[in-house]
Amino acid sequence: MKITFPHMGNTYLPVKAMFDDLGVEVVLPPKNSKKTLEIGTKYSPELICLPMKINLGNYIQSIEKGADTILVTGSCGPCRYGYFAEVEKEILKDLGYDVEFVILEAPDGDLKEFYNRVSRVANTKNMIKIGKSLKNGIQVLRKLDKFEASVLKLRPYEKNKGEIDTLYKELIKNLEKSTGSSQMIKYIHQAQEAIKDIDLQKDRDVLKVGIVGEIYTIIEDFANIDIGKKLNELGAEVHKSHTTSGWVLEHLFYNSIGSTREKQVRKAAKPYMKTMVGGHGRETIGNTILYTKEGYDGVIQIMPFTCMPEIVAMSILPKLQQEYGIPILTLIIDEMTGEAGYVTRLEAYIDLLRNRREKYKNEKMLSWR
Ligand code: SF4
Repeated sequence: MKITFPHMGNTYLPVKAMFDDLGVEVVLPPKNSKKTLEIGTKYSPELICLPMKINLGNYIQSIEKGADTILVTGSCGPCRYGYFAEVEKEILKDLGYDVEFVILEAPDGDLKEFYNRVSRVANTKNMIKIGKSLKNGIQVLRKLDKFEASVLKLRPYEKNKGEIDTLYKELIKNLEKSTGSSQMIKYIHQAQEAIKDIDLQKDRDVLKVGIVGEIYTIIEDFANIDIGKKLNELGAEVHKSHTTSGWVLEHLFYNSIGSTREKQVRKAAKPYMKTMVGGHGRETIGNTILYTKEGYDGVIQIMPFTCMPEIVAMSILPKLQQEYGIPILTLIIDEMTGEAGYVTRLEAYIDLLRNRREKYKNEKMLSWR
């Protein structure tokens, strides 16, 4: 059995660590690229959302490298993600690829069922071994997500431009050549120490931007055209409202004990959206409100073209903009999105946030007099 799985940000590293610990061979798809998207777009239904097109490209590239089993997470609820795997299976069959799909549904507290499914791909029924590898994989995932969050927060303050990027790239390179979770954890700890030594100019006038929207587009930098780095370069620290570790922990553990963060988000969204609309539409509303209350300068909603839950959320965002007085920008991405136009929109948005901050500063000074 040679397992593959789709790319979503840095998630391939902890998943690889988990399978390395289990002694299962994995075939990593090449990093997402124009070629991946071209392949996926060619064989996907025209109006399906971008994540499926990229996923399909990942599978075909992996199959060509020898993968015979595809591991994906499933979903239920009013969103197309729930049928991605079924559609992909049919497409791959029509193309003549003979592969097995293993779908891991979010257990929602039912850990036993989750372990049963994992044991199929883990190639062992030894629950202790599976549990340990899963725990270690999650540990790598959490630490890596935390490191990425500090990169997005600290990069706009660095004195010598490019130092954090170099450190980050070096870490990814080391993780890619690592085998198993303990080696990966060692490299992440080293990077965590090294980032503390980077010279920062803390008094720099840096904006704060929160990113809300569809989870895949937020996490996968190829899909979001590296929005975090672009905003950092324009002088804004960035916080992404979704991470893979957040999603895993939410569905694996917190749902069964009642997560405080999830509750907070839902409570904030409730006056505007009472029910789940699929994907993370409700979280887009709740997180926008929380970012506003936490003093962020702006919020960017990012989503694939035709993403239904985010279209619903988008229709409510103008009301939040008006009531909370926070500028909200919506970016819709598909395979036709050009980088130049995208950057121009970000630049104009950052100019607006800067002018707004200046205006408030001046008003504050005048009212003090
Ligand atoms: S959340 Fe949106 S983009 Fe993601 S699968 Fe569902 S419809 Fe598609």
